[in-house]
Amino acid sequence: MEADAGPIGEPPREKTPIVHQWLESRSIKSPVKLCENDIMTIDFRQTAFLTSVPKVDRAPPDEGAEVAFAGRSNAGKSSALNTITEQRSLARTSKTPGRTQQINFFDLGGNHRLVDLPGFGYARVPQAMKEQWQRNLTEYLHIRQSLRGLILLMDCRHPLTDYDQQILIWCADVGLAAHILLTKSDKLKRGPAGNNLLAVRRRLPEFHPDASVQLFSALKKTGIDEARRVLSDWLSER
Ligand code: GDP
Repeated sequence: MEADAGPIGEPPREKTPIVHQWLESRSIKSPVKLCENDIMTIDFRQTAFLTSVPKVDRAPPDEGAEVAFAGRSNAGKSSALNTITEQRSLARTSKTPGRTQQINFFDLGGNHRLVDLPGFGYARVPQAMKEQWQRNLTEYLHIRQSLRGLILLMDCRHPLTDYDQQILIWCADVGLAAHILLTKSDKLKRGPAGNNLLAVRRRLPEFHPDASVQLFSALKKTGIDEARRVLSDWLSER
């Protein structure tokens, strides 16, 4: 387990006029409804690699709808993406040397995309690289109009690190919905896992007004339906 690399700098609070206009037209989505009768319209098994880009200005056209996945390195992001899409090759794609610091786009069909953001929190990464990561991420969150929400992955045994808190605040700043997967829940017994879930849920309003959270295990394949429902809900919003 690598050491926590500590807090990163404050996000830019200044918004350009264009960003302002866009933010005004955007409000934080209400919490996701998880009713049994929701119709699952998106087949996540159809997910296919689209492209890898170093910066958002090289991203695919900003049309349709996309949901981004972010998380500290080793949080279980690749495993979660693979499990949700029932595909083994996605994580391999994202972990290809040279692509780990890139933004990876996956096509779901129907102009829907999943986006794998670079992992963060590597203890030994130089400060300049951390700052570059921060600039790239905040730029992506600010300008990407098709972005409907962010899935934030946290190891359920070490939730809400400084990085996680910062990302939630950035999402709240731009009115972007956030949903947390507390990963590797199989590593804890039911009681402690449930306690961690409640503890995180209780603290979330400190960072984001209506982020949601669930337990997830790629190993035991638990929490998949709940995560897919959040994704479907966001992606199918007009
Ligand atoms: P990433 O760096 O965030 O993409 O994380 P990975 O998906 O590569 O996972 C990091 C490590 O955690 C790997 O050794 C995985 O096998 C392990 N891991 C991921 N998900 C789970 C899980 O649900 N349960 C357990 N026990 N281990 C997991």
